[in-house]
Amino acid sequence: MAGGAGFLGSHLCERLVARGDDVVCLDDLSTGSAGNLAPLGDCAAFSFVRCDVSRHVPVEGAVDVVFHLASPASPPAYLAHPLETLAAGSEGTRRLAELAGASGARFVLASTSEVYGDPDVHPQPERYRGNVDPVGPRSVYDEAKRFAEALTMAAHRARGVDVGIARIFNTYGPRLSSGDGRVVSNFCVQALTGQPLTVYGDGSQTRSLCFVSDLVSGLLALAGATGLTGPVNLGNPDERTVGELARLVVKLAGSSSPVEHRPLPTDDPRRRCPDITLARGSLGWQPAVTLEDGLELTLAWFRRHIGGAGG
Ligand code: UDP
Repeated sequence: MAGGAGFLGSHLCERLVARGDDVVCLDDLSTGSAGNLAPLGDCAAFSFVRCDVSRHVPVEGAVDVVFHLASPASPPAYLAHPLETLAAGSEGTRRLAELAGASGARFVLASTSEVYGDPDVHPQPERYRGNVDPVGPRSVYDEAKRFAEALTMAAHRARGVDVGIARIFNTYGPRLSSGDGRVVSNFCVQALTGQPLTVYGDGSQTRSLCFVSDLVSGLLALAGATGLTGPVNLGNPDERTVGELARLVVKLAGSSSPVEHRPLPTDDPRRRCPDITLARGSLGWQPAVTLEDGLELTLAWFRRHIGGAGG
């Protein structure tokens, strides 16, 4: 599991161990954190190796599945680490796909809805080829993942590696890092600490938010679907505007924080919503947690961790 100390990776590690798998977690802790792995601390089936998978993949012996979730994922994080993000998508993918090939393992790539860029087809089905500016600031993430998808398919076609590509849409839940700048973590922390909610632009842009336990179920279903290359969209098609999300978080938090508008980041996609027909049909998967329930669980977690997480 590359990127196993991150938000999504740590939840996936826990679910794998809970179902009886042995897990080797690789992470350079550049955006993930050892604290995310605390629940697995003494577990014999789990081991952690600190390393940068774009340079080295120190795994000995055979493995059954290789998950590649290693990359900065929030816009401020990948904009702060542009070259590392490109390396994780390129060299990281090459090394991990090679490990899978050498073991006869399935290779599961965590790709992203960002491959669709600022989409002019809505909602986005997998056959939509995207609208990405290859030299825009977000290209370091978008093009890294697009290249990672190309490399994954090349490993499949040229080397026969069993691959599965997940295009992951916005995901939220406990363990989102309070400082990483994503919309749900920002809004939750702001609402709970009485600060204004920072809505970028007029708040009419949309996102479709998937609770982390649902997303992990989708990744496990894809890992088990030998022979299905995808790409497969994994996300919750419940589309909301960012302004609506801000109001909902304020209400659920019982907060009196006002909304404050800030400039819209360059190339911020106007709207995003997954078409999950393929995931429903081929994986029998769809999200089960409503946005309201997921936000309650996330707010409860932030209430407990806000001091330790740095506010
Ligand atoms: N956003 C916002 N306020 C914030 C953080 C983000 O209005 O404090 C907006 C952002 O401009 C985008 C959406 O929320 O339209 C989702 O942003 P995020 O960084 O979570 O993920 P993205 O989908 O852009 O990768």
